[in-house]
Amino acid sequence: MTGVQRKRGFLVVLSGPSGAGKNTLVNELLKRAEGIRYSVSVTTRPPGPGEIDGVHYHFVTPERFREMQEAGELLEWATVYGNSYGTPRRFIEETIEQGQDVILDVDIQGARQVRARWPAGVFVYLMPPSMEELKRRATRRGRDAPDALCARLRAAVEELEAVFDYDYVIVNEDLEVAAEKLKAIITAERCRIARCDCRSFVERLRDEAR
Ligand code: 5GP
Repeated sequence: MTGVQRKRGFLVVLSGPSGAGKNTLVNELLKRAEGIRYSVSVTTRPPGPGEIDGVHYHFVTPERFREMQEAGELLEWATVYGNSYGTPRRFIEETIEQGQDVILDVDIQGARQVRARWPAGVFVYLMPPSMEELKRRATRRGRDAPDALCARLRAAVEELEAVFDYDYVIVNEDLEVAAEKLKAIITAERCRIARCDCRSFVERLRDEAR
């Protein structure tokens, strides 16, 4: 055993308007960073093109979603554009207990609930570089009908105000740079005294000094 050990993992909560590039950023982060896992949400919305059950989301019926809510299986949940989304609690608790970190992609309502329950989480807001770019990305994804797309863009503008409730902001101008920033935030958070078992290390160094 070398160095300062970590006590347990922590939550990294990533929010931002749809089209800011949260999914792509998370994938890029997971390629670069060790010791962090993605929390797969449950949702009642149907799978979009190329989305795989259990990988991008757990796609469930509204009945199943309600059951999970009532059984206390969700850490947080919210209705976003008419569909329900929630974060399974068990995966998070087990992963953190094993000393690994967990990254969540949740909307601003969900982030507020997580903040109330896990104040030690790290809250990161992803900004699009411009509204033009946001629109381009949302259109390119091709999942929404024109009406739904308009609603998302209007909601995106409203959601920008939520940035003030977060700890960190990243402007997603360039994927590589954004991923490095997110990785740096996580690296710094892992070095926080409160997250490390410094006591044992200090004692060991004391022993060595005797
Ligand atoms: P999409 O349908 O585009 O994948 O996601 C729509 C919105 O739902 C995004 O803002 C995303 O961050 C949010 N979302 C995804 N999973 C969850 C979740 O588990 N909880 C909450 N509160 N929001 C989520």
